[in-house]
Amino acid sequence: MDNLATPNAVRRIMESHGLHFRKSLGQNFLIDGNIRAKIVQAAEIKTGEQVLEIGPGVGTLTQALAEAGARVVAVEIDKQLVEVLHHTMRAYPQVQVVQGDALHLDLNAFLPEQTGYKVVANLPYYITSPLLMRLYEELRQPEIAVVMVQKEVAQRLTAQPGSKDYGALSINIAYYADATVVANAPKTVFMPAPNVDSSVVKLTSRPFPYPAADARTFSATVRAAFGQRRKTLRNTLRTLVNDPTAVLNAAGIDGSRRGETLSIEEYGRLSLAVQQALDS
Ligand code: SAM
Repeated sequence: MDNLATPNAVRRIMESHGLHFRKSLGQNFLIDGNIRAKIVQAAEIKTGEQVLEIGPGVGTLTQALAEAGARVVAVEIDKQLVEVLHHTMRAYPQVQVVQGDALHLDLNAFLPEQTGYKVVANLPYYITSPLLMRLYEELRQPEIAVVMVQKEVAQRLTAQPGSKDYGALSINIAYYADATVVANAPKTVFMPAPNVDSSVVKLTSRPFPYPAADARTFSATVRAAFGQRRKTLRNTLRTLVNDPTAVLNAAGIDGSRRGETLSIEEYGRLSLAVQQALDS
């Protein structure tokens, strides 16, 4: 199969199938071989490894993953693109194309039970955050996820406490993984070019490095803390526990602080105090 990471290849495939790019599904396809190579390299693919790809489009990234030796499950919502993929991926028997909505499909059913897996995706922008949270909260965690996201989302994923981008997404993902930006992608690497720049983020799973409650309590704590931005923790935590002041005292955190000022270590401590209050 020809190299799919070129403007001509993508245009030709779309035209020959009589298809138009569907903006509502975030269809901005990769047309740049360099950025594609950086994504695959960041995923550290070894031969035979399982990769879950969300939104393969016409198969540009899928092709490079298969050629790097990955076994790929590629989940695409657009039925017409699934037809295209059967054609473009026919030379790659290790690619399984699945039609469905990655937000609702039982993705675990397609993943190996005994071994780890990785996620590689140029994500549809309109569902980036819910999809990322689903990957970590509902599925077996990937060892590594390399995802192309809007630059602004990349900044949120890698933000530090006190910065304007630091929020629930930064902290909830930090519960599971370290996030780093491995490449920036200008609009011109996509067809059609989107309105915003993008970045490739690598999420490397690891145990949470500080004492903390279980995942449910941790994310409930973060949600409550950010429920009403600009309010103090003493106020916001009321939605979660009867006596926020006692919980904050137990965690050693000043109740007049706001959610966006706490480090992930402090969220760990706070979640433990919340858990204790909920259990008592
Ligand atoms: N991976 C391709 C590439 O890099 O050229 C396409 C990336 S494009 C940004 C996003 C893809 O996700 C589109 O093919 C779109 O149809 C698909 N998509 C959108 N929503 C989806 C969903 N809920 N589940 C699965 N795929 C989805």
